[in-house]
Amino acid sequence: MKELIVRGPGQLAWVDVSSPTLSSTHGALVRPIASASCDLDRRLIAGLTPFKAPFALGHECVAEVLEVGDDVSSVRRGDLVSVPWKISCGQCRQCIAGRETACTSVPRHAAYGVPAGGHWGGLFSELVHVPYADAMLVALPPGLNPLAVASASDNLTDAWVATSRPIAAREEARVLVVGGTESLGVLAVQMAVAAGAASVDYLDDNDYRCDLALRSGANVEFGENLDESYDVVVAATRDPLELHRGLLALAPGGHCSCIGIIFEDPKIPLFGMYLRDVTLSVGVCNVRPHIPKVLELVGNGHCEPLLVSPTVVSCEEATEALIQPLAKCIVVRERIT
Ligand SMILES: [Zn+2]
Ligand SMILES: [Zn+2]
Repeated sequence: MKELIVRGPGQLAWVDVSSPTLSSTHGALVRPIASASCDLDRRLIAGLTPFKAPFALGHECVAEVLEVGDDVSSVRRGDLVSVPWKISCGQCRQCIAGRETACTSVPRHAAYGVPAGGHWGGLFSELVHVPYADAMLVALPPGLNPLAVASASDNLTDAWVATSRPIAAREEARVLVVGGTESLGVLAVQMAVAAGAASVDYLDDNDYRCDLALRSGANVEFGENLDESYDVVVAATRDPLELHRGLLALAPGGHCSCIGIIFEDPKIPLFGMYLRDVTLSVGVCNVRPHIPKVLELVGNGHCEPLLVSPTVVSCEEATEALIQPLAKCIVVRERIT
C-alpha cells in the first residue's frame, strides 16, 4: 500500500510499504477517504518540531471501514468513521476515567502521524490499522459530508473543547480568539458562536484569516487596549508574545485555552493572573469523547469547517499541495466499499 511520509525537512513522498493486518479481534482496518492537514502538519513537514523524519504523516481523517475483528461491535465494513488522532484502548484506568490521551495500554503519546510513541502509520495512508475499533472509531451519521468533518479527528474537536468548556462555565461570556495557526483560530470562532458566546473578537495580523473569522461571526475591528476585557481567551497561536497578550486580556475569573503548539518556554504573567484568579489550560485535546457532539454540530449547520479547508486535492496532488502556504488542505480517495 501507499504511505505518505515526511522524508526530511521539506520532503514529502508516497512510498510502498507492506499493508497492515488485523493483529487482534478488537481491531479494524480502515481506508481514509478524506484526510485533512492538521495545523501542526506543515511544521512537521518543514522540520520545525522536535519530531525527526522519516515518519508517516496525517492524523485527521474520515475513513471507510474495510475489515473488523470478531469482537468489534460498533462498526462494520462499509461504515464511514471519524478516526481520532490518539491511540487508546477504552479499557485501562486512564481511559475509563476519560483521559484517553494518557492510555496506559499503548506507549505514551501513541498517535497517528507523529513519531512520538511508536509508529502507528499516518492518516493520509491508503490503509490504517485501528487497534481498538470500538473504543476509538465514531461512525458518521447518514448524510453528513465526510469532507466537512475530516478534521473532527483533531483540530475541529480541539476548537470545540477549548471554547465550549470555559463558555459553559460563565454567563454571557466575552470571548477573544488570538489567531495565528492555519485553521484553529477560525474554527474556535465558529465553535465559540455555536457554544453561545455573548461576543467573539478575533485578533490576527493575517487579512485572509480575519476575513474568514468575520464570516464566521467574529468582530475583527476593536480597540487596541484589550487588557482585562475577556472572560474566555483562546490562544490559537504559536507566538509566545501573542499568548502573553492573550493572558493579559483575561478579565477577573477568566480562562485561557492555549491550543496553538508553542515549542519554546513562553513568558507567563503569573502575578497578574494570580490577582485576577484566572486559569490557563494547555494540553493535547482528548478528542474521542467529544467527536459525536462535533459531528452533530456540523450536521445541524452550527459550524462550517469547510470555510477553512478551501483546497481539496487527489493523492497525486497531495505532496505538492501539503507544502503550500494554504489554510487547510483535504486529500480525497475513492471509496471501494
Ligand atoms: Zn494535530
Ligand atoms: Zn487505555
